Amino acid sequence: MPKELRIENLHVRIAGTDTEILKGLTLRIRQGEIHALMGPNGAGKSTLGAAIMGHPNYEVTEGILEWDGKNLLEMKTDERARAGLFLAFQYPIELPGVTLFNFLRSSYNAIHPPAEGQKPIGAVMFHKMVLDALQLLDMDPSFSQRYLNDGFSGGEKKRCEVMQMQILKPQMAILDETDSGLDIDALKIVANGVNRLRGDNFGALVITHYQRLLDYLTPDFVHVLMNGRIVLSGDRELALELEKRGYDWVREVVEAKGVPA
Ligand code: ADP
Ligand code: MG
Repeated sequence: MPKELRIENLHVRIAGTDTEILKGLTLRIRQGEIHALMGPNGAGKSTLGAAIMGHPNYEVTEGILEWDGKNLLEMKTDERARAGLFLAFQYPIELPGVTLFNFLRSSYNAIHPPAEGQKPIGAVMFHKMVLDALQLLDMDPSFSQRYLNDGFSGGEKKRCEVMQMQILKPQMAILDETDSGLDIDALKIVANGVNRLRGDNFGALVITHYQRLLDYLTPDFVHVLMNGRIVLSGDRELALELEKRGYDWVREVVEAKGVPA
């Protein structure tokens, strides 16, 4: 049975304030599906990703957030990761002092702990996995010994997020504007990285500002987030429409339908 990420009437505010960003957002994503999430700047797309992973700056005040029938709201961020969820950050953080290799190995062992009586994956074997993943993302092998994101260019940081996803093999991934700042070659490499994971045991929410990525990563569904809710859903034609006509058109459609936005 495909696992499902179930988001129902989700209300999220910035912790410690009265500012509500998500105002009753509903969305269901099953494994095997790729959903694209679009919307104007500041609509709350990153807030949704952060809330799904349990970022402490974002407080869920109402609604349902479940993965595979489990209540995510009762789980810590690391428990959510161990349950198979993954977030590629819009703005990856730099961790000077921690090499990419050590970061990946710690994360991998935390997320895929060895079975009872088994040893964790050996360094040599893991090193090969990392080198293979670097190659797939067209990154130099020397990256494995560099400090995580430290001095990486914008594009290298984005490729590194996808490379981490390749290693950690999540069951449901959220990619937050992983395409922004990439040239066309890097964009194809990133899209291929996601396409390789595609299958019955993988689902994704691909947050993007442009429809360009969707040329290479055909989504099954496209949603528009505006004013804290999903106001419109469709297939990839919707992304093309948005590219052509912008978001004002969506506002008009939404108002005409009488949906509060
Ligand atoms: P998007 O990713 O769609 O561009 P965000 O989710 O990043 O939008 O932000 C939604 C709104 O919430 C924006 O107005 C942003 O400035 C505000 N916001 C997000 N995080 C914080 C925060 N930690 N503190 C204050 N405002 C925030
Ligand atoms: Mg964002």
